[in-house]
Amino acid sequence: MTHNAKPIAEWDHDTLREECGVFGILGHPEAATLTALGLHALQHRGQEAAGIVSFDGKQFHSERQLGLVGDHFTDPATVGRLPGHLAMGHVRYSTTGETILRNVQPLFAELEVGGIAIAHNGNFTNGLTLRKQLISQGAICQSTSDTEVVLHLIARSKKIASSDRFIDALMHLEGAFALVAMTRTKLIGARDANGIRPLVLGDLDGKPIFASETCALDIIGAKFVRDVENGEVVICETQPDGTITIDSVKPFAPRPERICLFEYVYFARPDSIVAGRPVYSARKRMGINLAKEAPVEADVVVPVPDGGTPAAIGYAQASGIPFELGIIRNHYVGRTFIEPTQSIRAFGVKLKHSANRAEIEGKRVVLIDDSIVRGTTSVKIVQMIREAGAREVHIRVASPMIFHSDYYGIDTPDPENLIANQHPDLESMCRFIGADSLAFLSIDGLYDAVGGVKRNPLSPQFTDHHFTGDYPTKLTDLNGRSKNDPKMLSLMKEAS
Ligand code: AMP
Repeated sequence: MTHNAKPIAEWDHDTLREECGVFGILGHPEAATLTALGLHALQHRGQEAAGIVSFDGKQFHSERQLGLVGDHFTDPATVGRLPGHLAMGHVRYSTTGETILRNVQPLFAELEVGGIAIAHNGNFTNGLTLRKQLISQGAICQSTSDTEVVLHLIARSKKIASSDRFIDALMHLEGAFALVAMTRTKLIGARDANGIRPLVLGDLDGKPIFASETCALDIIGAKFVRDVENGEVVICETQPDGTITIDSVKPFAPRPERICLFEYVYFARPDSIVAGRPVYSARKRMGINLAKEAPVEADVVVPVPDGGTPAAIGYAQASGIPFELGIIRNHYVGRTFIEPTQSIRAFGVKLKHSANRAEIEGKRVVLIDDSIVRGTTSVKIVQMIREAGAREVHIRVASPMIFHSDYYGIDTPDPENLIANQHPDLESMCRFIGADSLAFLSIDGLYDAVGGVKRNPLSPQFTDHHFTGDYPTKLTDLNGRSKNDPKMLSLMKEAS
């Protein structure tokens, strides 16, 4: 979901990245409680705000709050205000620092066809363009979120059935979306044509569920049924006789699925199965491949927790170097990125990690992280490990260098703030970070780890835009504002 906290004219795409998780369940008497639990399992996808909407057969109810799911939705009084057999929810994180309640999802509107709620993980790359068009045609926007665009498009559709109107709206969208929507009788899940963000269909005692990741099914003991396919709209509906039907529609021209590799690198929870592949084993294999590609003589393999842990286990196994928890993470602080400014981010790393001196002192340490984005974490951690007495510090990163920003719902800074674009070569980057050596997993190593395949640009299996700049969709909103990303203009030309 894109959040536009500034007036449109001042729109700055560096402030727009969001990370989100979605969940919905139809036909269960404890729908809101189960949604709260599902959102709790998806908390890693967004920690700034959470919301749940329910329908009790007569009325829609909505609770939207800033903060963690557990801050509000463990309170029986809050969940008590969300009665009904149908509920859906959303967790959200935006980088704006201006998170305001009216932007917290699910968004809800009363339309000609009745009430509809919608929650979005992803980012519309033409959201701003659509929004401008709608406003110029007289639309009044309640929020500064581009997810609201979908509500307007549904409202304007000439189709009769709410699900047809929903599909009609989707046809205008560009970019990445895993959407969950609900009406009085329906729960709908949809993924964009490329399937950039994940969405699964689950089942709890015959009641259908949509969730961003399988970990949200596990927490409530629900069965995994299948992934919602790329370009698929799944419509679950309670019929007048009380039975639930599940229909599938594929409104887009068929394309190969291109799920985002960053789900495997960093975003998804390691116990989730994303597009049929366990995230944990993909991460571990990234570490194994990294050990083969970038071996180093060392005494101990230390993960940057938590993201680097599975890859570090793989690296240790493949290299034969002992694995130790040389860095201890304080779990009572949010992710490094979860603070709004660069200065606080840097401080956040210190709050979050501390060196386990006994395992580090006098040793040659291989530090494993899942990714390097701005470089903030690496600089602080290397300094910390040296201060704890490490003899050598070698960094091995379980993903390739990130040269390109994400425009599909994962928080990344503008290209010029990515460390890979700030240094002419690996050596200079290594010096800046203060390590004795630095190496990244190759793109082939990543493809092999995740899919057991070789990268084939002619028949893409994933989207790897962070590393290659190969964006699978048009980037309409970025047109004319891509001066910081030289590759962008040519790519946009190709895509259009
Ligand atoms: P940086 O400090 O900017 O180099 O960020 C790299 C660190 O942040 C790594 O330890 C990753 O685990 C983590 N990370 C990578 N991508 C993201 C993201 N989109 N949001 C939050 N944290 C991230």
